[in-house]
Amino acid sequence: MTYSNSVVPEGGEKITILNGKLQVPNHPILPFIEGDGTGPDIWRASVRVLDAAVEKTYGGTRSLKWMEVFAGQKAFDQFNAWLPEETVEAFSEFLVGIKGPLTTPIGGGIRSLNVALRKALDLYVCQRPVRWFEGVPSPVKSPEDVDMVVFRENTEDIYAGIEFEHGTEKNKSFKKLLQDNFPDDYAKIRFPDSSGFGLKPVSVEGTRRLVRAAIQWSLDNQRKSVTLVHKGNIMKYTEGAFRNWGYELAHEEFADEVYTWQQWEDTKAAKGEAAANKEQGDALKSGKLLIKDVIADIVFQQTITRAKEFDVLATMNLNGDYLSDALAAQVGGIGIGPGGNINYETGHAVFEATHGTAPKYADKDVVNPSSVVLSGEMMLRYLGWDEAADMILHGVGGAIEAKTVTYDFHRLMEGATKLKTSEFGDAIIQHMDD
Ligand code: NAP
Repeated sequence: MTYSNSVVPEGGEKITILNGKLQVPNHPILPFIEGDGTGPDIWRASVRVLDAAVEKTYGGTRSLKWMEVFAGQKAFDQFNAWLPEETVEAFSEFLVGIKGPLTTPIGGGIRSLNVALRKALDLYVCQRPVRWFEGVPSPVKSPEDVDMVVFRENTEDIYAGIEFEHGTEKNKSFKKLLQDNFPDDYAKIRFPDSSGFGLKPVSVEGTRRLVRAAIQWSLDNQRKSVTLVHKGNIMKYTEGAFRNWGYELAHEEFADEVYTWQQWEDTKAAKGEAAANKEQGDALKSGKLLIKDVIADIVFQQTITRAKEFDVLATMNLNGDYLSDALAAQVGGIGIGPGGNINYETGHAVFEATHGTAPKYADKDVVNPSSVVLSGEMMLRYLGWDEAADMILHGVGGAIEAKTVTYDFHRLMEGATKLKTSEFGDAIIQHMDD
């Protein structure tokens, strides 16, 4: 593929995938979108941090070969397209990349550039780690108990975007279809003549690939449990099915490595609760991963009151959206929350800030770059460059512990020193070697 908007960096090599395993060269080409609004400030600081971590760790034997690609306002201004085809092509060809926040174009065309990119590359996992750094202001008593990773399904559920607006012809046709073909269901609608409708597709394949990714990642990273989060008591054939299909997948593909609450239920029914408890205890002692489930409403309470009981959480799109922001609040909010959109089958991955463009702070060099820095940390770990990723965690942790922080943390911390975005990047780099 030849690029007209972007330059493929010299000396860079392509990341590939072989038998489901990423093949990462020493100088991988990584497409990046700096982002709109505060994006350029954040990117300038972040790229220095990422390069420094790699340089300090590998002393030049490895490096990141950045390739700028365009989306959002910058792309629209320069190329008259919000998401130029070649940007999608670059992420497709080079497999792994990173992006800052993008302005959502208002009115018509693309609903959201993030959604468009996820769709184009079928990035079915939205992975959001939620952990606390010592010293980060938090509204909860024991933020140190929060160390969770959300695996949010990224391609279906109500986010499929199938909605019929009240008063439109489509809405009328849909209502008639219900009335004619499913009269019992139609009768359940409280105000049929003034309702909008939305569809919630949740599939076997969509569920299985998400749960598979969550379990495999948990096994690879020595995590303790995967909790399937669902509202299956109300939405039996979508959310309830997600739970059932999740357990099925765990039994079929990971029988030797996991113990499930379903197994506990079966043993309890056959041999009593004591036998079930003993079976579970033995399985966990032998190092098996626990697969359990929880109803989506109670999970919001329990992840606050009993945070230690949660580790990896696998859930559908809408639950995951709410849950990841709520969890992020416990450990410092979205200014610091990283994320990755990943297809674990093709290897495609786009790591990204979880906050927006915060336009009122654009070009002021004041916002917190941690969300992109830590997304870069996730990206390095995804590439298997764990030592460089650890160096970043150490640097961020050190800068915060020294109370040298950007305005958002400064206003909540006593005795802290307020740094600019760029200075916070410097502080992270300084603390890498502590
Ligand atoms: P936002 O950009 O996330 O900003 C909301 C508030 O969050 C800011 O005013 C600021 O709060 C805080 N904040 C955000 N980023 C921060 C950072 N790096 N450091 C410190 N604080 C930070 O949300 P928005 O204003 O609703 O959306 C603005 C634009 O972003 C819209 O066009 C929206 O569509 C887009 N957006 C893009 C993405 C994406 O690309 N992933 C995601 C969400 C929204 P304080 O002022 O209280 O300090």
